[in-house]
Amino acid sequence: MTYDLHIHSCLSPCGDNDMTVNNIVNMAVLKGLDVVALTDHNSSKNCPAFLEAAKNAGIRAIPGMEINTSEEIHAVCLFPTLEQAMAFDEYVFSTMPPVKNRPEIYGDQILVDAEDQPVGTLDTLLITASGVSFDELPDLMEQYGGIFFPAHIDRSANSLLAILGAVPEDTDFPFFEVYHVGLYDDLVEKHPKLAGRPWLHNSDAHYLWDIAEPERQLDPRIEQMLRDAGIL
Ligand SMILES: [Zn+2]
Ligand SMILES: [Zn+2]
Repeated sequence: MTYDLHIHSCLSPCGDNDMTVNNIVNMAVLKGLDVVALTDHNSSKNCPAFLEAAKNAGIRAIPGMEINTSEEIHAVCLFPTLEQAMAFDEYVFSTMPPVKNRPEIYGDQILVDAEDQPVGTLDTLLITASGVSFDELPDLMEQYGGIFFPAHIDRSANSLLAILGAVPEDTDFPFFEVYHVGLYDDLVEKHPKLAGRPWLHNSDAHYLWDIAEPERQLDPRIEQMLRDAGIL
């Protein structure tokens, strides 16, 4: 199963305004991906349009979010249904500090419908830290029925390892995302606790041309976990 489970839309301030839901799903179809997820910063509010666009385009799509925890760790959360994603969205949004977006600095935060028409903008800046801490994620995922994985665990900014310095003892995660795939061996040598644990690589696309090529198969163990959670 080819995949890209970490993609930003025009709702993320850093996401290109051309990252509309139809552009994303059509690009994924064109590339021949089997499954895609929409994971905007701290928001799932473009997921209703995304799922509808994906249904029309005939590609499997997962509603999600890339949460920025209170420690500034990025984690991708995926949900079986739109309802669960939107319930989690509402909860995360309630923990956001009341910082207004300044589009001229951070970029636009555009809400679209399933025809890519802008239906509004979000005023609250989405790239700030939410009020949700990393160690709350396992319980929250159980509560909202989702699965989370630490995003770009090997990046120097906003990653679990960059912020905490090591794999935490007390907060387990089922699998993780690697950004620099070529450096996987170095990563595991430095953090042996990651060895043997399933991982995946996504595009983290903010621009259409960055969406993944269908060159990777989802680790069957991850596929099974997503199936067990009802996400696939
Ligand atoms: Zn990130
Ligand atoms: Zn991202």
